Amino acid sequence: MRERFWESVPLAEMTAPEWEALCDGCARCCVIKLEDEDTAELHYTDVACRYLDCERCRCTAYAERSEKVPDCLQVTPAFLAQRSRWLPQSCAYRQLHEGRSLEPWHPLLSGTAQSVIDAGISMRGELVSEVLVHPDDLEDHLINWVR
Ligand code: SF4
Ligand code: SF4
Repeated sequence: MRERFWESVPLAEMTAPEWEALCDGCARCCVIKLEDEDTAELHYTDVACRYLDCERCRCTAYAERSEKVPDCLQVTPAFLAQRSRWLPQSCAYRQLHEGRSLEPWHPLLSGTAQSVIDAGISMRGELVSEVLVHPDDLEDHLINWVR
């Protein structure tokens, strides 16, 4: 990876390792979201996709995720151009797409994944799997991230 590539290389010109390194592993994109029918506003829940290992904060079906979960977000430059709002404000892809800088807790700056947990960004241990929640009860699981 090029040195401090996130500061100078456009998203569309990053190599695959650079692109992957932007993901901080927070799993915020793996929670079920509810969309307000009137305003299109998105609301996050603390309910995770059935394929997320909620304790390790890792996808257990990463290679075949698009087949298993058709609405799993496939983050690409084209996706960012159209639907970046579907990613949380804290997501590095959204931050760079919007011209913002990475946060100090991002592993590329801190040098450790632990900083994502320490900053309260990681969803590790914070979520319940969708297999344990009835769809009618999702509104009881709305959460609001302060950042
Ligand atoms: S929200 Fe962004 S940084 Fe967090 S896991 Fe998803 S893609 Fe990675
Ligand atoms: S399939 Fe994997 S990456 Fe996609 S939402 Fe589910 S846990 Fe997240």
